[in-house]
Amino acid sequence: MTQRRVAMLGGTFDPVHLGHLRSAVELRELLSLDRVHMVAAGVPPLRGEPRVTPEERLELLRLGIGDTPGLVADPRELRRDGPSFSADTLASLRQEYGAEARLVMALGHDAFLRLADWHSPSRLFELAHLVVIDRPDFKAPLPAALVELIRGREVDGVETLFEAPSGGLLRVALPTRMAISATDVRHRLASGATVRYLLPESVEERIYERKLYLVQ
Ligand code: ATP
Repeated sequence: MTQRRVAMLGGTFDPVHLGHLRSAVELRELLSLDRVHMVAAGVPPLRGEPRVTPEERLELLRLGIGDTPGLVADPRELRRDGPSFSADTLASLRQEYGAEARLVMALGHDAFLRLADWHSPSRLFELAHLVVIDRPDFKAPLPAALVELIRGREVDGVETLFEAPSGGLLRVALPTRMAISATDVRHRLASGATVRYLLPESVEERIYERKLYLVQ
């Protein structure tokens, strides 16, 4: 029996944009994933509180995903009190899918560079594989603590990664690499510049309807 393959792509999604969504779809294709849980962070531990409420960010995520097969807007971090730690989210997914499921935590290279500063980073590898998505605009060398954390974990292909339920590291370059960031989207909205084709239309519509991000 082949084991289920499930990924978590966490983020602030403040707001979700086509870089996130296209990456999630391509990741699903590349790794033959059954499901990609896009998990909106409640209070992200490593950054200031976003001005748009977590519920609103989740709603934008839901709208952005629409009926895309295999993608799920996952509210589980919003249901927990206090800071959202990815290790707790992975533990909850592990419980849901079982010990043999192939569980992946996917993250962009920018987020990967800060991984050693996260809450219990080595626990992440006990619970899941890490898949790092190359981002065209982030090329910094890895910090020493990160090199130590990933020592001996890197594999060179999807099937090798999925021989075990967790513990490996794979770096991937997805076919469509988009240099879109939520920071840029927020700046554009606040300065009255267009965000057309950076976000799904449904997300753009709701942002204007609700006047989100429009003031600095
Ligand atoms: P911000 O600019 O506010 O920091 P962001 O656009 O990087 O936001 P996040 O919500 O912080 O978005 O990102 C969630 C995850 O998606 C992270 O792992 C991040 O690396 C990844 N990601 C963000 N933008 C892209 C993109 N254009 N292509 C691929 N991955 C991305």
